[in-house]
Amino acid sequence: MEIKQVHKATCHCGSVELELRMPNGLVDARRCSCSMCRKRGTVMASVEVENLMVTRGEEFLTLYQFNTLAAKHYFCKRCGIYTHHQRRSNPYQFGINVACLEGINPYDLPNITVTSGVHEPGEGIGL
Ligand SMILES: [Zn+2]
Repeated sequence: MEIKQVHKATCHCGSVELELRMPNGLVDARRCSCSMCRKRGTVMASVEVENLMVTRGEEFLTLYQFNTLAAKHYFCKRCGIYTHHQRRSNPYQFGINVACLEGINPYDLPNITVTSGVHEPGEGIGL
């Protein structure tokens, strides 16, 4: 598994395509225990906001927000796959769905930690 300097990510149906600049590889790969992530179950990594570009299918991206409405969770409205979210705890970063990265199998990643979003104020804030 190799993270390229510029790595492509897609939703399941391929309508949405992202281009990610990931000079430091997978940064802060994690799961989160907040109410949203518990149901979503995704392994996420962090990318600086300026390093994510939607290169195809922006019109297929739908925004979901809850609780404080600070985090912005995006998913493909055609296939339902979460692609990325703007973080509440750091709005200068996106969390990205590692499973959307081309050629990357999230089940092959060793030692994925679980961050305790469930203990954050206002539980379920989309770390
Ligand atoms: Zn899709």
